[in-house]
Amino acid sequence: MSEPIVAIIGRPNVGKSTLFNRLTGSRDAITDDSPGITRDRHYGHVAWNGRHFTLIDTGGYLPESSEMFDAAIKEQVEMAMDEADLLLFLQDAQTGITETDEQIAQMLRRGQHNLMVLVNKVDKMEQEVEVSEFYALGLGDPYPVSAMIGRNSGDVLDAITDRLRKVAVPDKDFEGIKLAIIGRENVGKSSLVNTLLDQNRSIVTNVPGTTRDAVDSELKYHKRNYLLIDTAGLKRKARVKENVLFYSSLRTIRSIQKADVVIYMVDINEGLSKQDVQVLNDAANQYKGIVLLLNKWDLVEKDHLTTNALKQDILDRLGVLRYIPMMFVSVHNKQRLYKALDLATEVYENRKKVIPTSELNTYFSEVIRANMPPAVKGKEIKINYITQIRTYFPLFAFFSNHPNLITENYKRFLENKLRERYGFEGVPVIISFRKKNTRVFAE
Ligand code: GDP
Ligand code: GDP
Repeated sequence: MSEPIVAIIGRPNVGKSTLFNRLTGSRDAITDDSPGITRDRHYGHVAWNGRHFTLIDTGGYLPESSEMFDAAIKEQVEMAMDEADLLLFLQDAQTGITETDEQIAQMLRRGQHNLMVLVNKVDKMEQEVEVSEFYALGLGDPYPVSAMIGRNSGDVLDAITDRLRKVAVPDKDFEGIKLAIIGRENVGKSSLVNTLLDQNRSIVTNVPGTTRDAVDSELKYHKRNYLLIDTAGLKRKARVKENVLFYSSLRTIRSIQKADVVIYMVDINEGLSKQDVQVLNDAANQYKGIVLLLNKWDLVEKDHLTTNALKQDILDRLGVLRYIPMMFVSVHNKQRLYKALDLATEVYENRKKVIPTSELNTYFSEVIRANMPPAVKGKEIKINYITQIRTYFPLFAFFSNHPNLITENYKRFLENKLRERYGFEGVPVIISFRKKNTRVFAE
């Protein structure tokens, strides 16, 4: 099942980002362990009483300053209404209801949306009486919270997960490889999907996806089944320019969540932007396999020199994500499109690869003997046992007498050695250091 999406909406300064940080917290211990993975600021995962959801701080996607500001907020609320499973409309107890709040409320009242009104900055019990004024919004019971000090955040999480139970839509059963085709506008995503589907005679059917208008498509190739996620979403464009990022983010988050492998497309004539790297990071954060397609290769004046320079530039921009394989393609000339599918399939297999424990220990005892972890504060660090933990992505536990003293550099070194020997091209590899003899397997 893909995770439901919960969006925090509201005007600036009501405390959206504070609430976001409060609710997402730092529960994801695996992410904290991983050197190459940074936490995204605007969306994160929340686990509460065995339920999971993705939380988005819509404020993070607003333009910083422009006359369009109010319009941008409204557009964003509209998109969140279309795309999110639950809206948290955040209010500020210190200011009361403002004109902007009233305008947003008007929009919300028009639709049949799953939403909760949260009144923030209720830092003390005595202030709870003030919350009754927010009934005037006409959107149901207001919940008092204090994002800053965490007051009532457990109750709010209970209420959120309770609401989500009613909207959960199970994913269709699908035996095969789930691919999300992601990238900025105009890089050629829809063209790729259409070309693959047009050429493929064995498309089974269009499969309804989780969102109202999402449609996934199935195709068969070399006797394997592939699901191309949200092929309809590729067609729809955002209504206001400023909000392209926000709109495509919501859509992108959903697609990435459902995928085994993300096919990330870039227009090679534009190169890899910071925003691209950010989305790639998001996919890596969710332990997805990734391949990079550098499209519109037909438009490049090529010689050996340009190819290498282009590759090098992309590698530099990828930084710690340089394990992602890349391929030059041209959808226009139908060049290497099935090779790209082969590459995605390889990455899919890499993500499932399991290395026997004895093999790991033999290899790493050599590696570590030749290159000991540096002693910290006079303490000698030993790593005595390594095992791969069986989960849906490559996760390796290194047992040590001082797991907390292992340096970032040394973690990176071990990761590189692991990749050097066993491949894992295109998949995030997580190395987790644990205390010797404490078996905390996440099986
Ligand atoms: P956003 O623009 O909606 O994302 O708002 P921020 O999260 O940046 O918060 C705006 C201001 O309100 C900051 O100065 C926060 O410290 C403050 N703030 C946020 N939550 C609370 C709260 O629960 N109580 C109080 N007293 N202040 C808060
Ligand atoms: P999307 O917004 O990522 O779905 O991009 P589209 O598939 O709509 O493509 C945007 C534009 O790029 C269209 O005009 C396509 O015809 C064009 N395009 C797509 N792939 C290629 C390619 O390989 N070479 C060239 N020259 N143009 C392409």
